[in-house]
Amino acid sequence: MRIGILGDIHGNAEALRAVVAALRRDQVDTWVQVGDIVGYGPEPSVCIDMVRELGCVTCLGNHDAAVLGLLDTSYFNNFARAAIHWTTPRMRPSDLQFLRSLELVVKRPPFTVVHGSLHMPDQFGYVISQVEATDSLEQQDTRLCFVGHSHVPAIYMRNAADPHPVQVPQQSEIEVSFRGFDRVLMNVGSVGQPRDEDPRAAYGLVDTDLEMAWVKRVHYDIAGVQRKIREAGLPEVLANRLSLGV
Ligand code: ZN
Repeated sequence: MRIGILGDIHGNAEALRAVVAALRRDQVDTWVQVGDIVGYGPEPSVCIDMVRELGCVTCLGNHDAAVLGLLDTSYFNNFARAAIHWTTPRMRPSDLQFLRSLELVVKRPPFTVVHGSLHMPDQFGYVISQVEATDSLEQQDTRLCFVGHSHVPAIYMRNAADPHPVQVPQQSEIEVSFRGFDRVLMNVGSVGQPRDEDPRAAYGLVDTDLEMAWVKRVHYDIAGVQRKIREAGLPEVLANRLSLGV
């Protein structure tokens, strides 16, 4: 099985198109999406359509939940909240119906999909170090688990003999063999709003036969989506941050 993993698309259809084209070249046969299709970006419905057409195995992100009114946005920062207020009235009934159908955790052996962490998934905690990775891995009963939420790629691996996960050195692009490890927790980074100072769109690729995992990057038309963000009247900072990858 070759699995293509999309995460934190955030209404950025320019980035999503580039990532989907790259994953088609990678010849994936299974598509996964780890949540936050909407929020921040100017084309949420286009992104929902693309995720549905690809038949992605999909879980619910915190921005998706906020648009549904399932999450209090008072702990969102001002720009995130402004984007939710922009996005919500633009959702078509079919968009809302689709988002409403999503679960917090989706298990499809050999993988599980969750937005933040398997440790209290409804709290949308971030896996940003071995501490949170250990908590999530304790709840993981498939070999692979795909997450997003932090917008920073990372891979943690563990075997049954040792509860402490190994973190693969953090880089914007990763290539690693997980042979010999029975638990792999992979944060695939963000398609639509990377925050690791590499502005290229990020995505994950796993080959279960080769037992290899990759985080890859692809260039996309950043200026094009910045123009759309400004035309939409979304906060200027949401355009500017895309060229910095923050
Ligand atoms: Zn996000």
